[in-house]
Amino acid sequence: KNNTGDLMARISEDVSQVRMYLGPAIMYIIDLIVKFAITIPIMLMVNVELSVYTLLPLPILSISIYFINSLINKRSLEIQRGLARLSTFVQESFSGIRVIKAFVREKDSTEKFAEESNKYRTQSLKLTVINSFFFPLIMMLTGLSSILVIFIGGQQVIHGEISYGNITEFIFYLNKLTWPVAALGWTSSLIQRAEASQQRINEFLHTKTEIVSEKNLVKPINGKIVFDHVSFTYPDSGIQALKDVSFEVKEGESLAIVGSTGSGKSTIANLICRMYDVTSGKIIIDGHGIREYQLNSLRGQIGYIPQDVFLFSDSIKNNIAFGKTDLSEEQMIQAAKDSDLYNNIIVFPEKFETILGERGITLSGGQKQRLSIARAVAREPKILILDDCLSAVDTKTENSILNSLQKIMKDKTTVIISHRVSSVKLTKNILMLAEGEIIERGTHEELMGKQGAYYALYQKQMMEETTGAEG
Ligand code: ADP
Ligand code: MG
Repeated sequence: KNNTGDLMARISEDVSQVRMYLGPAIMYIIDLIVKFAITIPIMLMVNVELSVYTLLPLPILSISIYFINSLINKRSLEIQRGLARLSTFVQESFSGIRVIKAFVREKDSTEKFAEESNKYRTQSLKLTVINSFFFPLIMMLTGLSSILVIFIGGQQVIHGEISYGNITEFIFYLNKLTWPVAALGWTSSLIQRAEASQQRINEFLHTKTEIVSEKNLVKPINGKIVFDHVSFTYPDSGIQALKDVSFEVKEGESLAIVGSTGSGKSTIANLICRMYDVTSGKIIIDGHGIREYQLNSLRGQIGYIPQDVFLFSDSIKNNIAFGKTDLSEEQMIQAAKDSDLYNNIIVFPEKFETILGERGITLSGGQKQRLSIARAVAREPKILILDDCLSAVDTKTENSILNSLQKIMKDKTTVIISHRVSSVKLTKNILMLAEGEIIERGTHEELMGKQGAYYALYQKQMMEETTGAEG
């Protein structure tokens, strides 16, 4: 629901505001109390009248600093928001650099960046103007106090009430007290700002996940999945993605889900991993409602290969071992072999230590998908979900991956999601989805015999393949 830039701003900026309160604000307040407690009694003992005149300008100092600083804070907040916008923009531009180039939007992006940074500069300069008044004002007010001490004290010396030494003494006391008093104004505005920041942080910290476990059931699952009249509507968009979907996959069996894009296939995968809760109906795994399982225990036993691959800028080895840190060398190699990636990896000079992304090697789309498969397979899950994860490989590679997956799939419940029928031939049960509803189900042969939607899709895709449209 939130964008990355805003969250990053809360983590870095707001947290540092609160830190400013916890550190300096508390320190200066203690400093103030201690210095006042020691200095003021001594001043009063020397001369009451001079003490009053010396201390008189200090509250004015404190209050003016408070007001100036509040103004500074208000401006800084605007600047901070500007910076958050700017960093979101930059972050998106860099991650989408290829799209920007391909659509020749460099100029637009540069102009938009220039506009945003100009806004940022103008705001910063406004702040600088206020800041430049800040120190002269403190200096002026403290100077005024010194003049008062010398003037009033001088007259008292003339009248023989105090000595020269007392004036020197008072100027010294004054210098001691000025900074804590100035800091008081400064810290009170800091506290205000920290309060606002803490509120923004709290919004974030107090957000409760709606996905909670009912019974915290922790147990090894066998992998039987039942969807019982499941309907699901995405809470943030209101789009109904699934309508009355029922199916059953026995443990160790496989199920294929085909359908065009937007038909709700990924939604089924999300629901099995319990990224969302169903709107109505029930999902039952091994006879227990999915809500009864402890979330980490459930997700830990599912190998989910998402549609959009995400790899970390880390070594191939660490990317494979991501879900299982105690992975042995053999297990890792086996996972790479099972996902048909091994031969690609061993030609890299660094082999499994090769660093991906950023400063390292960049894999092709198909290699990324296979690495993503290796990651899921390596943790030896009981339920394996492949969400359209073979879309970036050609049919030949797809076949070889599916063949090696057959071995792994033997004792696992597998859900293969694909918009391509070639990926699903190997499974016994096939569901065909359209607009969130199951329109056909059965084995490949049965569905072909029906000559319905599946048959039509099959014919169409086979034709594309033979004419080379897909290769
Ligand atoms: P498929 O995987 O078959 O292409 P999805 O399950 O991703 O389809 O999407 C089904 C429908 O749900 C689509 O209409 C899509 O717009 C919507 N949808 C998917 N993900 C989200 C989401 N995170 N928030 C809101 N709506 C979504
Ligand atoms: Mg999808």
